[in-house]
Amino acid sequence: MIYRTYGSTDIKVSAIGFGGMRFEELDDVDTCAALVKAAYDKGVNYFDTAPGYNKSEESFGIAFKHMNKTRSHKPFYVSTKSSKSESTEIRRDIETSLKKMNLDYIDFYHCWCIITFDVYQTRKAKGVLDEFEKLKAEGLVRHICVSTHMTGTDIEKMLQDYPFEGVLLGYSAMNFAYREAALDAAERLNRTVVVMNPLGGGVIPQHPNRFGFLKTHQGETVVKGALRFLINDPRITVTLVGLSNQRQLHEAISAVEGFQPIRPETIQKIRSSLQKSFSELCTCCQYCDNCPQGIPIPKLMDAYNFHMLNSKPVDMINRLRFHWGIELQDDCLRKCTECGLCEETCTQKLPIRERLKFISKEVDKFLAAGRS
Ligand code: SF4
Ligand code: SF4
Repeated sequence: MIYRTYGSTDIKVSAIGFGGMRFEELDDVDTCAALVKAAYDKGVNYFDTAPGYNKSEESFGIAFKHMNKTRSHKPFYVSTKSSKSESTEIRRDIETSLKKMNLDYIDFYHCWCIITFDVYQTRKAKGVLDEFEKLKAEGLVRHICVSTHMTGTDIEKMLQDYPFEGVLLGYSAMNFAYREAALDAAERLNRTVVVMNPLGGGVIPQHPNRFGFLKTHQGETVVKGALRFLINDPRITVTLVGLSNQRQLHEAISAVEGFQPIRPETIQKIRSSLQKSFSELCTCCQYCDNCPQGIPIPKLMDAYNFHMLNSKPVDMINRLRFHWGIELQDDCLRKCTECGLCEETCTQKLPIRERLKFISKEVDKFLAAGRS
């Protein structure tokens, strides 16, 4: 395992962190805990969760109960979050998290779901950061951090406004151009960057041929290539991998164990290929899943990815029908009122309304042609 120093602390964190939002056996907390423990045994020492990730905190809690016995000589660090605005609610969140995870304190406590700069300012005005500081003074929190899906430039503005020690942001080979300014600003301001969603919400492993250029060494998988692209970046301290099962853990560990620095000219080549082709993909983060019309936007945008990657509307239609089980007559494909709410919250700032129109047009064409 590769370890890196967390900002100006003396904490050494693993280059690969455990993202606790994608467990395969969501309700089987013992199986999930065994996966957490296996990661710890393999050298992973950064564990990220949140109150909203199903039973993730409970699963971590079972594992931590065992891991606490060895923590003094084999340290591990825990990151969780609160998206609340009222001080009593924040306190309730952290007390619940501590109890569920069998912990006395949280190492990295994140002000969560900062989707726009307005949201940041509103929360700050409501005293959220003052409450975080109180929690830190009481020893319940070690480091105040932020988790965000804003644009790179807005993240830069926020980091200049408040001395968050760490920032958690979505960054992958697919969307790096969109958040580049944030990484540069964090480096300049000496803040730690932890990245989430390193495989673009599964889009990268689902299209190994299209992302083949991420492989920089013989025999490498596209997943390893995508992780190494991030591990190689000196501005990134931890790459969080949302682990579902032992196979994924094994692949993530082997990405870091066999890591060789990538030559700058190779990185440059990868960057220009990616920037040209893939910055417009949906990462399936689900932050737009708030449509007043009940349209399952992440599912439709995932299907649109298939059109972008394969250039054939029929692939998009097949994805809708056979992966997501959406019938082509379903009115969710046609009832967008174009209110724009989803685009305000989209982490990739995608033109969702335009894409929905394209989908419904292609579906209607498909139906009119009498295809099935
Ligand atoms: S623009 Fe359409 S899809 Fe987006 S939130 Fe409004 S109604 Fe829903
Ligand atoms: S459309 Fe945007 S917010 Fe919605 S899932 Fe895709 S990337 Fe995330």
